[in-house]
Formats: sequence, C-alpha cells, structure tokens
Amino acid sequence: MSGIDLFRLDGKVALITGGTKGLGRSMADGLASAGADVVICSRNGEEAGREAALLGESTGRKTLGLRCDVTEPEEVDALVEATVSQMGRLDILVNNAGINIRNPIEDLSLEEFEEVMSVNVRGPWLCSRAVIPHMRAGGYGRVINMGSTLGVVGVPGRTPYASSKGAVVQMTRVLALEWATEGITANAICPGPFLTPLNEPIPGKPETVRFILGEVPMARWGELGEIQGVAIFLASEASSYVTGATLFVDGGWTAH
Ligand code: NAP
Repeated sequence: MSGIDLFRLDGKVALITGGTKGLGRSMADGLASAGADVVICSRNGEEAGREAALLGESTGRKTLGLRCDVTEPEEVDALVEATVSQMGRLDILVNNAGINIRNPIEDLSLEEFEEVMSVNVRGPWLCSRAVIPHMRAGGYGRVINMGSTLGVVGVPGRTPYASSKGAVVQMTRVLALEWATEGITANAICPGPFLTPLNEPIPGKPETVRFILGEVPMARWGELGEIQGVAIFLASEASSYVTGATLFVDGGWTAH
C-alpha cells in the first residue's frame, strides 16, 4: 500500500465510545467513510442503536450501537466481547466518551471531581485494557484517546476536566511504550473548542466569545467534520510510525 490508499480502513472494525453525539459521531462518520465497520456506544442504548442504524444507512458499512457505561468494568468487557462476536474482530478503539463539570474548586463537590475523573480517565483505561488481547490476536491495533487542549493548558474553573485530560495524555504515552514493539499504537487527539452538546452550556456567553476570539488564533469554533481527518490518519496504516503522540486540532490555540 502507498499514497492515499494508506488511509483506507476496509476490513477494519472500529469501536468508538460515546459515538452517539458530537465529536464521536463525527469520527464514526469519518472512519466508516474510509471503509471501517463501526461500533458506537453510550449510556443510552436506544440512541446508540438509532445512530448506528443511521450511520449504516448513510455509509453502507456494517454498524452496531450498544449501551455501555465506560466506568463499569463488567459493561466494558461485555461491550468488547459483543463487538468481537458480532463484528468478527476489533482493530481500532477511540476512547471518546467524556464529560465536563465546570466550577471554581471551592464550588465543586468531591463527587463531581470523581465523576469527571471516572468517565474521562477510568473509562479509557478500562477500555484500553479490554481491547488489547483482541488487537494482538488480530495483528493490528490503534488506540486513539480524546485528550483536550486543557490537557496541556490551564483554564480557571476546570480542575476536574483539565486534570483528567492531562492524565489521558500521560496514559497515552505509557500505552504507546507498552505496545511499541507489537505494532499497536496509542495516540491522543487534543481538540480545541468544538460546538457539541458538551459545550452547550457556554457558547452564547460574552466571555466565551471573548475567549474564543482571544485564545484561538483562527478565531472560531472547530466544525465537527474537522476532527475526521486526524481520526482517519491515526486509525490507519498512514500513521504506522506514529505512537505516543499528541495531535492538536485546536485552531492554533496551543501555538502561542
Ligand atoms: P458530547 O457531545 O457531550 O458527547 C459525549 C458522548 O459521550 C455522548 O455520546 C455521551 O452519551 C457519551 N458518554 C458520556 N459519558 C459516558 C459514559 N460514562 N459511558 C459511555 N458513554 C458516555 O462530547 P464531545 O464534545 O463530542 O466530546 C467528545 C470527546 O472529546 C470528550 O472526551 C471530550 O472531553 C473531548 N473534547 C471535546 C471538546 C469540545 O470542544 N467539544 C474539546 C476538547 C476535547 P451519553 O451521555 O448518552 O452516555
């Protein structure tokens, strides 16, 4: 394979946690358009089934939508087993499910801190652990973790989220080292601001507009489709010598 064919994902199976909405749903479109069969999950099984059916109709790929809370070890194991038994293999994991609870530290409860850490850190850790035997067995593996610019940049009112995304960046590096000689890669995508349900509480506020214009050199929100290229790259043969990397898709936010 060479050139543009390196980006094809025909014959590969991708599992995208939190693939029902926002960036996960967009990456599901992207990976399926490149030829992958795709499994998506969220805590809402009905929505997962519906979105998977829509994805299958629009791309012609085999798709599956399953209920799973990524913080629950038994549910994660069942998700991975169902993926392998119904789709035949598992080549690509996108650890995308994530949440954010915003407030200054003195206005946050310990429960809120732990909830964010659980979904954003424990979830990817459990999912990565569950998929690795199947990637080894299949002879191909790509783990893509959704970090954030806030994994490397601080913003007030984000102690849980920024702590969790910093952990995701470090988890990615360690996994890359653990699997490096096996050809299984682990990389992180760090998006800047995208208008997804995660950010619904903030888009109209004047301070948000000032922030976007002030901090993001491109002076705009990311568009959902703008996450697809990097996801296809990291899922494909095109990134075979890329591991432990943190790729920023942030309109230049981290350039200054
Ligand atoms: P989103 O629109 O809120 O979607 C989050 C997805 O995760 C939904 O499908 C949600 O479905 C699912 N989810 C949440 N908790 C879950 C759990 N415990 N188990 C399984 N699924 C769960 O979020 P997004 O903006 O697309 O963000 C996707 C990822 O990119 C996150 O990791 C986020 O931190 C990261 N990110 C986003 C931005 C941004 O600007 N949007 C920037 C940087 C990084 P249910 O709630 O139905 O379970």
